[in-house]
Amino acid sequence: MIPDDLEVIDFNRRLKSWYLENHRPLPWRETKDPYKIWLSEVILQQTRVAQGMPYYERFVEQYPTVFDLAAADERDVLRLWQGLGYYSRARNMHFTARQVANDHNGRFPETSEKLLKLKGLGQYTAAAIASFAFDEPVPAIDGNVYRVMARIFGIESDMLSNEGKKEFAAVARQLVSKDDPATYNQAMIEFGALQCVPASPNCMACIFKDSCFAYEHQMQGQLPVKIKKLTIKHRFLNYIIIRQGDRLVMHERRGRDIWKGLYDFLLIESKAPATNPDSLTILDPNFQNFLKKGRLTEVPKVYSHILTHQRLQVRFWWLEIPETERIDLPHGMAFYNHEEVEELPKPILIDTVLREENYL
Ligand code: SF4
Repeated sequence: MIPDDLEVIDFNRRLKSWYLENHRPLPWRETKDPYKIWLSEVILQQTRVAQGMPYYERFVEQYPTVFDLAAADERDVLRLWQGLGYYSRARNMHFTARQVANDHNGRFPETSEKLLKLKGLGQYTAAAIASFAFDEPVPAIDGNVYRVMARIFGIESDMLSNEGKKEFAAVARQLVSKDDPATYNQAMIEFGALQCVPASPNCMACIFKDSCFAYEHQMQGQLPVKIKKLTIKHRFLNYIIIRQGDRLVMHERRGRDIWKGLYDFLLIESKAPATNPDSLTILDPNFQNFLKKGRLTEVPKVYSHILTHQRLQVRFWWLEIPETERIDLPHGMAFYNHEEVEELPKPILIDTVLREENYL
């Protein structure tokens, strides 16, 4: 629900007075220098203020201007960054400093739209720099701000969905102060960091408790809504069904993987679909040894198997080894006769293939 103009005025008034009384005096808040503001934003990504502060101070001291950072040796930048982790941030930062120094004469672009074109700057960072340094009335929406808006205005859409993002953006655009966007954005971020914290916010002591949707409905724990998409892993499994007479070589699956405790065949996992079995010999020396002793035939059908977090593409080959041939099996593998194979616990996919191949 988008607040009307009167609600916005009231919200901004309360928020600003809270901020003026409660905010932490942080060095990057005392400056309008876009270079220093940008440095602080890069350092504070995935980093707590207390941890990031000494790094910010060291960088400002060692590289007081964007030209100094641009001229630095990358190894020195990485050394100064040491301990902060996510080293790609430091490399991107160094790259961006060169971009600003060389392509923009050392001047950061003055609008969020132009700032977005610099390497490594997302919506939030571009809006933060544009509002803090150049007073552009754009909302800087980080995780703190999402939480504050969702709770106070009762936004129940998933903040990670496209519709949710649009809804949050519309409320944020309405709320941002046109007179003092820098203080407004700092205040929203600080309010989320200090007062409307993720777990157990102290609502009794909150300036918005008489109008906050989450407090009224006791939904602080449910807002904001953030539905993580499942990451699906694609795997390519290649099974070699070693057969001697009616006996098959099988083994029990162990370890932290799918189908633990069930029985399957010699398995070779590849990074891409394996159409040529020769390519698999490199991945498994056992297979190479077995291959010398028997005849390989492909099961023409390629099986797809869907698990909660995984999509499996599975191929099978029969490897017929003459009864006269003696073979040594690796540890954990054994021959099982027809009856035993029938009895062993198997993944449903293995059972299906054996039936479709008329073994069971
Ligand atoms: S009342 Fe509670 S949930 Fe609402 S803004 Fe204040 S701290 Fe956050």
